[in-house]
Amino acid sequence: MRRCLEDYRGIVGDEVISSIYRKARRLYGRHILHINSTYQGGGVAEILNSLVTLMNDVGIETGWRILHGTPDFFTVTKKFHNALQGEPLHLTKMKKQLYLENNENFSRFTHIDHDCVIVHDPQPLPLIKFYPKGQPWIWRCHIDLSNPIDELFDYLKTFILRYDLVVLSSEDYKRQDLPVEQRRIYPSIDPLSPKNKDISPNLISAHLKKFGVNLDKPLITQVSRFDKWKDPEGVIKVFKRVREKVDCRLVLCGSMATDDPESLRIYTKVYRSAKHLLEKGEIIFITSENQILVNALQRVSTVIIQKSLREGFGLTVTEALWKGTPVVASNVGGIPLQIVDGENGFLLDPQDLDGFAARIVAILQDIDLAKELGQKGREWVRKNFLITRHLIDYLDLLNEILWRRNHY
Ligand code: UDP
Repeated sequence: MRRCLEDYRGIVGDEVISSIYRKARRLYGRHILHINSTYQGGGVAEILNSLVTLMNDVGIETGWRILHGTPDFFTVTKKFHNALQGEPLHLTKMKKQLYLENNENFSRFTHIDHDCVIVHDPQPLPLIKFYPKGQPWIWRCHIDLSNPIDELFDYLKTFILRYDLVVLSSEDYKRQDLPVEQRRIYPSIDPLSPKNKDISPNLISAHLKKFGVNLDKPLITQVSRFDKWKDPEGVIKVFKRVREKVDCRLVLCGSMATDDPESLRIYTKVYRSAKHLLEKGEIIFITSENQILVNALQRVSTVIIQKSLREGFGLTVTEALWKGTPVVASNVGGIPLQIVDGENGFLLDPQDLDGFAARIVAILQDIDLAKELGQKGREWVRKNFLITRHLIDYLDLLNEILWRRNHY
């Protein structure tokens, strides 16, 4: 059933609900458009699913369009994504041409007459070039921009400069060399989505059974796309170290995003490297997209690991913390915004495999520690990272930017 704002009363309280309705009042009937490049897989699609629903529920006419691109286009934009996180890139004329052409083609059949356009991530960034600019455009970048390849960032700036505002996930991602107004808005999770809502033990068992996950041993799980920045090979190395101390099982749950052409190659590579343990059932790979399964895994695992090398924010961390499951994660990108080391989880240098293993073993061997970390994690998320707070941030931003527009 369609979710409504009142459904969140029990989680965030009446004050929050009332303030959202209040802030939405000046935006009634406004027409807002979000554009990204995938409807599933990855954090952006996850957020838009809930955010767009709630924006409509409070009276703002909000649409969501998905950029259509050719496979070549997504290969190029994945390279751009990697280069924004610091990986070398050969920025050829051909790549630029593919990038522009796909955006231009999409613009031909996508009419935009909205009051404000919010473009997510680099794939649809150049769209702005193909419209007469009649409203504010916001670039919402979910990637860590602190260490990009300069040549690429300089090229992307030709589009970014046209935007009215850039929204980033952390203060640390703001760029001195970008003379466009920059704001920080933290991402969020939806506590009532199928992925995060409370689910019954029967539903949990049914899903685990369906995907062959046995609970005869404690589970360690990483839920992440098969992507090199999520370091699935590193997770397996950590798991091997943990197993020397405690008998347990690893689940790597990673569906394939439609805008991520690298995932199959990474999956195959990791599969080969772990074949022996996979055949023995010590490691389980899951590639199906199934929200209830992710929910179940994040609840029944004794530890959630997030061994990312780079991470824009890391919604998987938020999701696990919300379920009261301890998280051991890399101290990179947006993860330290969520985990206070030793308080509601553990943070480690991504290269510190022994450190990861030691923290996981400590949790596996101490139920009280696990419980305490879990409780604190849930409250931290309730306070900071729920969709209701995110909605408030967007309402504030839209009120400001649309009001400002009328006074230029
Ligand atoms: N996700 C999922 N199934 C998977 C892998 C990931 O549903 O097999 C979801 C995950 O639960 C989270 C999102 O995809 O909601 C990933 O967001 P995150 O910010 O952690 O990383 P991103 O993929 O955006 O880099």
